[in-house]
Amino acid sequence: MVRQMPDVGAINCRGGSGVEWGGGDVLDKSALYSLRSGVDPCGTLSRGQVSPRGRYAPSPTGDLHLGNLRTALLAWLYARCADGQFVLRVEDLDRPRVRPGATERMLNDLRWLGLDWDEGPDVGGPYAPYTQSERLVLYAHHLQRLRAADLIYPCYCSRAEVARVASAPQQGDDGPRYPDTCRYLTQAQRRQHEANKRRPSLRFRVNDERVVTFTDLLAGYREQHVQQVVGDFVVCRSDGIFAYQFAVVVDDALMHINQIVRGADLLHSTARQILLYEALGFPIPSFVHVPLLLDAAGNRLAKRIQSEESPAINRGATGEVISATGLVQQYKERFYDIIAKMSWNA
Ligand SMILES: [Zn+2]
Repeated sequence: MVRQMPDVGAINCRGGSGVEWGGGDVLDKSALYSLRSGVDPCGTLSRGQVSPRGRYAPSPTGDLHLGNLRTALLAWLYARCADGQFVLRVEDLDRPRVRPGATERMLNDLRWLGLDWDEGPDVGGPYAPYTQSERLVLYAHHLQRLRAADLIYPCYCSRAEVARVASAPQQGDDGPRYPDTCRYLTQAQRRQHEANKRRPSLRFRVNDERVVTFTDLLAGYREQHVQQVVGDFVVCRSDGIFAYQFAVVVDDALMHINQIVRGADLLHSTARQILLYEALGFPIPSFVHVPLLLDAAGNRLAKRIQSEESPAINRGATGEVISATGLVQQYKERFYDIIAKMSWNA
């Protein structure tokens, strides 16, 4: 059964302007209303779920390139090889960066590659909708849970201010560590910022001592002292858009995704996401971070390599994608076995 989301309009993760932190409610009133009127924000999370469920979650900010297709194919293979289900989700929260028609072209390219999905924006499914911009009420609900647990606080720093204050000479993959500037603001100081029309982002309060450890099925054992390396991180941007780190955790959890295959560029953010899984009481999936595909010069492939009008993928690229996944190597020996067993009866 496809569950329909109520139309809640644009939900801003910071709440409306003028909402006083500490007194007001971070949720838009319409979101609260729709939560009361029949949407179960936790879906069927309590139901036992053991079968493998994988996903591919592209952003329609440009056309898929060879590296994206390779990751999609590996995620699909990983799920299908285990008789698992495969979910397609469109991550379009960053509306200004969404390109017209990109979603349709992505779906076409994935179909062209021969991938199929059990649930997705075009076929629906039990955890619909499968497009992030239609799931704002769910993010608002779970952000409210973090707030109720005093795990988020408003940060009035601009990006430049964070960079200026951060003294660490070495920068992580996500820029400088957040220097705790707004962590201990008093209510009066927050009011002062609000009076100055500063628009806050919301940051997740990272435990000072916690070292997050996990074993990536490809990259191996990893550990990160999140507070030392990253610091308190943004779950809601100052422009009101739910942060990727937050939305992806809520989505994967509510969609019962238990195996995450994705590009190695997200390996560094996994520890942060594990903190969010824990804070929200969600089971933590297994992770497989696939090395990024590089061009001949050793650079990461960029999206938007094709113009709006042309087909997103060179139609002769199937062999390249198959080759890039390592499938050719993997099946080489088997191929020779098969050839060896063939008899020429003609
Ligand atoms: Zn701040």
